[in-house]
Order: sequence, then structure tokens, then C-alpha cells
Amino acid sequence: MNRSVLLTACILLLINLGCGHQDGQHQRGNATNLYVILNVSVLPMTDKDTLLSNVNVVIRDHRIESINGPIPDSATRIDGTNKWLLPGFIDMHVHGFADINFGTPYPTQGATFFVDDQDVMTLYLANGVTTIFDLNARAENFAQRNAIQKGRIIGPRMALAALINGGDGDGRIANNPEDGRQSVRMAKAEGYEFIKVYSQLDEETFLAIVDEANRQHMKVVGHIPNSFIGKTQKAFVPGFNLVAHAEEFAKQSKTYGDDDIQSFVSMAKASGTWLCPTLITIKRIRDQTQSLDSIRHLQGFELIHPLMQDKWINANKFNDGSNNQDTRHLAELMDFNNRLVKAFYQANIPLVTGTDAGCSGVVWGYALHDELVLLVQAGLSPKDALKSSTILPAKWLGIDHLIGTIEPGKFADLVLLNSNPMEDIHHTRNIYGVFANGQWLPQSMLKQMTDTVRTHHQKMGDRRKTVQMN
Ligand SMILES: [Zn+2]
Repeated sequence: MNRSVLLTACILLLINLGCGHQDGQHQRGNATNLYVILNVSVLPMTDKDTLLSNVNVVIRDHRIESINGPIPDSATRIDGTNKWLLPGFIDMHVHGFADINFGTPYPTQGATFFVDDQDVMTLYLANGVTTIFDLNARAENFAQRNAIQKGRIIGPRMALAALINGGDGDGRIANNPEDGRQSVRMAKAEGYEFIKVYSQLDEETFLAIVDEANRQHMKVVGHIPNSFIGKTQKAFVPGFNLVAHAEEFAKQSKTYGDDDIQSFVSMAKASGTWLCPTLITIKRIRDQTQSLDSIRHLQGFELIHPLMQDKWINANKFNDGSNNQDTRHLAELMDFNNRLVKAFYQANIPLVTGTDAGCSGVVWGYALHDELVLLVQAGLSPKDALKSSTILPAKWLGIDHLIGTIEPGKFADLVLLNSNPMEDIHHTRNIYGVFANGQWLPQSMLKQMTDTVRTHHQKMGDRRKTVQMN
């Protein structure tokens, strides 16, 4: 072997090791990050929307360099034969650990359990979710985002919304228009990009928040406040950009009738408001009113933090004291949500996938695939369901020039599937590998990452047993 061949072999070895997930250390965007996916079927999710068959996609550093362009000799080759390439999935409604109150002391007061940020992010990546929208973001989320950007951990892109509510609860509370406006300005100054409005806001304050958010160039997502019951129309002003659950409309309807649904369609259409249905949330809540087995058998359950597993099983507010009437009501709600989604879809109001991950029974990452199935069951074509989880959320977030489609120049957030999701939407779970910001994570590496999460949880469980024995 001559010297240059040996050198090439060493470089190749370095490429493979350099992109690995080892002890939480990651290298992103180094000069050797160059891949080609050969002979792959591409669902580009662009306006032209044509399926590209048997093409070669070159990925250099963080971006898609070319489709059927020249293949650099030094590119690492991935065989895409009989595989399907999609833009990475976007979950438009999640809650991170920082959002959830466990009633446990802060670390400064000696908490025994800590959350490993990589473990949290692994669940998203293992499911091809490369962008998330946290609808009750906290300072901690900025730290996570910085850690991802610096390559200390690997995770999805994160869009962050600051929640503003009325009433007398915790958090950012505003009960008059001036406080509402000030809350928006402070959220902007703290670095949040979006405003989440919540159920207890009064009419005037809600409208002032939406108006101020518009002035500050911040989009507004959220609940339809209860104060609008009986006058729903008044909440649908331009600048109320996205309703965060289908059941927000149910709360505004006495009858759950189709005539109400049609008037909601007209309101949303007139104000340009989109819908994030989160169909999986109510389904999971319904399941829990019947039995906690639905929780124990969830895909990915062992991958969520033991504290959260504990909360979902031992302090489950949906299961506790529930009866058949609750279950029946939730089934009616699911039916309403399905009819609403279908009506919005038929009226061409954009729908985006969201899960409310973190809500009891909704597992980060995994639930996105449940949501896709439910959207198709509600009447969306598989292709439109996929658009709801790629290009449409990218548009809503204002980053469709960067992600959401497969085109040269876009960031390489990609999911490579073993089977065609247009044939059967369940195939989105059949993941061969994921590109997150240009970093290739083949299934073997994703498995290694989820195994690490399992090991961490095992250790936490052992430690807790030891503490109890003492
Ligand atoms: Zn939520």
C-alpha cells in the first residue's frame, strides 16, 4: 500500500468516527462531512411536487449541495435503492421538561434526579423529527438550543414561544391590555420568537397581545380564550396565526354540530388562522380514562425520563377517578376533531402536525407518527399529511427558505425511509437513517443513542432503589 492510499484510508476512518455519537461528543459541520445518497426516490415537498425517482443527492456540511449533480469522489456513499427521502419532520406543539412542574426541588436544593438533554433530544432524532416548536418555552430551552448549535449535543432545531395567560396562576400573567402588551415586549426582549396565548385571557387583553405581537413581528399561536365563548368570531383577528388544538374549537361549541364547524372554517379563513389539530392528545387522554395499560405499552415509554414515567403511571390525573361518561365525552370530542380537520382540509386552511408531546401519554418523537396516521384517518391524503409535517410548518415558522423541502441549498434535515409513505402512512416509522443539520445518523447509531437512554434510566432506577433501601 503506498502512502497516499494509506492516507486516504485514514481519512475515511476519521470521517466515520468523526460523525459518531460518542460520550455525548459530536462534531458538526467539519470539512469532511460529505455524503451522497445514490439511486433514491425523493419526495421533495416543493410546490412543483413531482416525485424524483432514482436520483443522487449530495450533502455537504450542513446543506443539500445537489440533486443529480456531480458526485465528489470523497463523498461517503449511502445506497438509496428502494428507499424514500423526505424532509425532516416538524412537531409544532411540544413541551420540554422545563415546562413541566414535577413538584420536585430545584437542583440548588439537592434534587436527586437530573435530566440529560441529549436523552431528551434522542427521542426526536430517532423518529426523524428535526424541528420542534416549544409552546411554553423557558430559559432552559435557550441553553439546550445553544448546546445543539455548538455541537455539544445533537438535537432538532427549536422554535420557542413564550406563554401568556390571564387569571391568577403562575407564569406570565396579564389581566389588562397594558400588561398584555408589556408581556409581549418583555418576551421579545428575552429572545422568544413567538407568543402563545392561553385560556384565561380576557377579551381586551387577548386582542392587545395579538396587536402588540404584530407590532413586534411575532406570530401568535395558542388557545381560544374561554372569554370568547358565545362570541368566537371576535377572537379571529388577523395576527392570531395558529390555533394549537382542534378541541379549542370544541370548547367554543355547545352542540359539536357541523354548522358550528362551518362557521369556524369561515372565521379561520377570514383571519388567515392555521390549525395544529394535535389529534393524538385527546386520543391518548381517552385511552387513559379506560386503562393505564395504554400508557405502559406505549412505544418508547421506557425511553422517557423515569420521573415522567412515574408521573404518568402513579399520578395520572386523567385516569384518577375517571368513569365511562368521561370516556364517552372524549370519544365525542375525537369525532368532533376529526370532522373539524376534514372541514378545514376541504377549505384549504393549512394544517400542521403537532402532538402536545409531554402531555401524559404523548411520547416525544414517537407521537409525531401517531399524529400522521390520525390525520390520514381524518381524511388527508398521505402526501398532504406529509406536507403538514414538513413544508407547511416551515412556512408558518418563517423558515421555509431554509428547511421543509428537499432542494439544493436547503439545510440537510432529512429522513430516509425503507418503504414508501405515500402507499401507507405507517411507513414513516420505518426509518433507515436521519440527517440532522447535515449530520448522518444511520439506524445503527440511532439505536445506539436510544440504548444509551435506556442505560441511563436503568441506572437511575438502581440508584433510587439504593436510596429507598437506605
Ligand atoms: Zn400544549
